[in-house]
Amino acid sequence: MSTTSIPADRYAARLARAQEALPAEDAYALLIGVGADLQYLTGYGAHELERLTMLVLPAVGRATLIAPRLELAPAQACTAAQAGLIDLAPWEETEDPFALVAARLEASDSRPEIQMGALGGTWGRLGGLLVSDRLWATFLLRLQATLPDAAFGLASTVLAPLRATKDAEEIELLRRAAHAADRVVEQIAAGPLIGRTEADVSKEVLDRLVKEGHDEGSFAIVASGPNSASPHHGPGPRVIEAGEPIVLDIGGRLEGYWSDTTRTLWVTGETDIRPSDEFTALYEVLEGAQAAQRAAVKPGLAAAQLDAVGRDLIADAGYGENFIHRTGHGLGLSLHEEPYLIEGNTLPLEEGMVFSDEPGVYFPGQFGIRIEDTVVCTAAGGRRLNEATRELRVMA
Ligand code: ZN
Ligand code: ZN
Ligand code: ZN
Repeated sequence: MSTTSIPADRYAARLARAQEALPAEDAYALLIGVGADLQYLTGYGAHELERLTMLVLPAVGRATLIAPRLELAPAQACTAAQAGLIDLAPWEETEDPFALVAARLEASDSRPEIQMGALGGTWGRLGGLLVSDRLWATFLLRLQATLPDAAFGLASTVLAPLRATKDAEEIELLRRAAHAADRVVEQIAAGPLIGRTEADVSKEVLDRLVKEGHDEGSFAIVASGPNSASPHHGPGPRVIEAGEPIVLDIGGRLEGYWSDTTRTLWVTGETDIRPSDEFTALYEVLEGAQAAQRAAVKPGLAAAQLDAVGRDLIADAGYGENFIHRTGHGLGLSLHEEPYLIEGNTLPLEEGMVFSDEPGVYFPGQFGIRIEDTVVCTAAGGRRLNEATRELRVMA
């Protein structure tokens, strides 16, 4: 997976900001396994393996990427390694990579500097190690056994706030991903749909996501008729019929960055079974709430306040009970990350935050409707990265 769109100086700044944030968390190093955090800090979009790959980033000094010998070539190819921002330490098949992590920590300048004050050189609570949140248990248990006196915490305390605000290149990648998904929505909406199974249409979506520029098509919810009442319906053998809605919620990754968009369609068939007035009115309530939310976006507004904007409109129309999930989630190198637009989240929106705006209403056994865009918070307000029409498409 190429990461050439993000220049090396971005990685230098991210590594430095992560290091600067460590002392405030009483931590002296980040231990980052394969995943979005590693890609964020180095540009390395590694595959998950049972062999340990780990970036050791001490609060002071250089970072080391510890990688299995057989993964050396892709590890060396990442932007941070190419630019000389990090050192590489390959381990041989019979070596203990956890001992290598411990040795790198031992050799780093950070430990004594941060720790001496309160605890005088012992590894105690003040000597925390922050591990990537999704590090496999098998790796964490081995780390704990190798470093029995260290206190472990989550890297998200340092990295989530950094990752939540996107720089210009990240926003451009998210925009490209969003537009690619928009094109797929248009292609699927052009039909034919009636008479095909959800699973068949879903497969077509995944193929088209790649054809339109994603590195990988990741999910394609095709929820027809009563299945549309289940927000995360798994596309199955149900055959799409005339006179019903279809909720399409699709996404993939482009250079690691996610698209995630939802449109609700209505297929009439030859006999022209159009949506009822009630369905159309409900669709308009949802479309209005989704647009009002986007229009309310501004730096400083709490995530929970934004959630309330659309939720109140839907509740006022009498459908509060049918809106059963949060309004949205941040997205970037992870599909779900801060800011979560949900009641209780006091996190203030900031310029550069990117999140989904996706209210939905669901009537079990009958139907559901959802509309989802990716939105970026700018100084001038919320800007949609999607451009596919949000109006109800009624088609044959
Ligand atoms: Zn979802
Ligand atoms: Zn979605
Ligand atoms: Zn979403």
